[in-house]
Amino acid sequence: MQFKDLKLNKPILRAITEKNYTTPTEVQHKVIPQIIEQNDVIVTAQTGTGKTASFALPILRMLFDRQDAPKKGKKIRALVVNPTRELAIQVQENFKQYGKYTNLVSTAIFGGVSAVPQQEILERGVDILIATPGRLLDLHKQDVFRLDKVEQLVLDEADLMLDMGFINDIRKIERLCPKDRQTLLFSATMPDAIEELAKTIMFQPTRVTIAKTSSTADTIVQKLMYVPKSEKVALCVHLLERECKGSTIIFRRTKFGADKLEKSLTKKGFNVTCLHGNKSQNARQKALNRFKNGDARILIATDVAARGIDISAVDAVINFDLPNIAETYVHRIGRTGRAGINGESYSFCCEDEKEYVATIETLIGKKIPVDNEHPFPLDPDLKPQVHTKKSNSKHRKNRKSEASRKKKKRWY
Ligand code: AMP
Repeated sequence: MQFKDLKLNKPILRAITEKNYTTPTEVQHKVIPQIIEQNDVIVTAQTGTGKTASFALPILRMLFDRQDAPKKGKKIRALVVNPTRELAIQVQENFKQYGKYTNLVSTAIFGGVSAVPQQEILERGVDILIATPGRLLDLHKQDVFRLDKVEQLVLDEADLMLDMGFINDIRKIERLCPKDRQTLLFSATMPDAIEELAKTIMFQPTRVTIAKTSSTADTIVQKLMYVPKSEKVALCVHLLERECKGSTIIFRRTKFGADKLEKSLTKKGFNVTCLHGNKSQNARQKALNRFKNGDARILIATDVAARGIDISAVDAVINFDLPNIAETYVHRIGRTGRAGINGESYSFCCEDEKEYVATIETLIGKKIPVDNEHPFPLDPDLKPQVHTKKSNSKHRKNRKSEASRKKKKRWY
């Protein structure tokens, strides 16, 4: 199947050719025809599957083909609701790129920054609005725009919106749109509350399910490193100095942990940038841009802040904390080893995290190779000796006593 078989029009085909997309991904070839048929669609798919283009391309095609003669002011004809500001920006960038040869105008609105510039763009008129729920409702209340001409409503990352407490806002937003609009719902998982929502706001939806990402690419060399909690920073520094010399994302479970690590690594002289939900919008965007354009080679991120964000060409991922949800492991390490290029992942596991290893290994269907050849193993008996190449093979057999080893200079 080719893109040209998907009833897309010339301006859009030209833009995707420029992006070097050759074949549609699974979600694209299943979802695009359904949207063009004007069906409501529920899509269970994760980020990284190409799901943004699966709704952006047909929406652009339909809005472009159904344009009325130019009238005064544009009306919002497609509305995409996203849970986070970064996702809203990213989705709008996609619309901009795919729609560059159309005359359709898109914009993103989100909280955490001044509303004035967003308001000015909206007053000039947009066809496609990408928004986070809070700012959308705020500006709507102020009568900056109307949603009564919306033809397509997209709820993107619906389960994350549920987790973030936006479900009532979604219901309010849906009621502001015309009843006969087309509704498209994208979610990585389908909790009951999302099923309930879909039942009440969608009309005979078609369902498309894209298999869960449970496998890890063969292009990723995975390593599991047992390490005491107190030595994780030291091991991280060791890796950043010796193994991970290219672009590296370090995942932490909490915002507090991310901040703490940022401080420690900055103190050690690393050029680090950090992304999490407690930072202002400008700080988050700046952090992301610094990493994307190579000004900072190390990005520390929490899972929520990084979810859905498209950062390609990452050389290594360090799981500073082992995720307690197995799928998160797959998402995290999937940031590297993309498009057939080799990548590496290093997962730190301290005593409290040992229980997570088995669930991850069950999900990915293989054992993560253990690497204890580092200076800070959890089991002190596994601490490597400072040795030359010659003595390398012998050093395990000839382990010195713990006392004499302690006297030895540490590797790092
Ligand atoms: P998404 O799941 O929408 O976040 O997309 C993940 C990545 O896949 C983005 O970098 C897209 O630019 C890229 N992508 C989407 N569709 C295709 C395609 N058909 N061929 C190649 N890359 C694609």
